[in-house]
Amino acid sequence: MKIKKCPKCGIYTLKDNCRICGSATASPHPLRFSPEDRWGEWRRKAKMKNIRD
Ligand SMILES: [Zn+2]
Repeated sequence: MKIKKCPKCGIYTLKDNCRICGSATASPHPLRFSPEDRWGEWRRKAKMKNIRD
């Protein structure tokens, strides 16, 4: 299974093109655990931190 990521939307997909914006997707950097949960949580925390600071 090859998972890919849309560089614009930041979503993960198995397809060559993003289902949201249609951009060509690319393999995310080092693929280790569950990328969707891991990066989803990281992005939420980063976003909250930016708002609060
Ligand atoms: Zn997209």
